[in-house]
Amino acid sequence: MCHERNILPRLIELQVVNNRPSAETHSSSDHADVHRQLNDPGNSPRVVFSGAYTWRRRRPSTLVVACSDGRLQKSIDEFLEQKLGVVDYDRLYAPGGPGCLGIGTFDIRTDQLKRELKFLIEAHQIEEIVLLFHGAGPGGPSDSVCAHYKRLLPDASVSEIERQQHEDALEALKIIARLVPQIPVLVYRAEVHGDGTVRFVDLRSS
Ligand SMILES: [Zn+2]
Repeated sequence: MCHERNILPRLIELQVVNNRPSAETHSSSDHADVHRQLNDPGNSPRVVFSGAYTWRRRRPSTLVVACSDGRLQKSIDEFLEQKLGVVDYDRLYAPGGPGCLGIGTFDIRTDQLKRELKFLIEAHQIEEIVLLFHGAGPGGPSDSVCAHYKRLLPDASVSEIERQQHEDALEALKIIARLVPQIPVLVYRAEVHGDGTVRFVDLRSS
């Protein structure tokens, strides 16, 4: 991996920041103030909306692992429905999506995300997994690059981040194959182009 030397000091810095004890202290009056922000659980809460959709007993069989970036949500839904025929799907969303499954990113969330992935596959009887990376396509705006990768690789070019995503995709495939070798895994990257269109490329060779 071409950026190991750059990533590690940055991650150590992030962990130090995340583990720093909070300067705030919470008194019992603070606690009471927080409680007053919610209705008492003994009282029936006020209904504020009743939806047109009904709950579906049958679980979706597809799990999508993608980045939390909401700017892509409608494009992802469009792609899943029109290309893959997937309308309902379970979601495992986190910054960077499948990029933080692999150890290649040295991400401190890796183990947790793996545990959640395993849990969802088993508890929700998942039969297919879609790994979805995202970033800038050729001529795409720089702010369409995945923020997770910008955080880990602040000095990397768009093409270097794309190469890192390929490495992370390989790592994610290995991890999933060890967890659930029988489940098919699709791997795509959503690329934002200069005109704002989003194109999905298949990262699998076959
Ligand atoms: Zn992202």
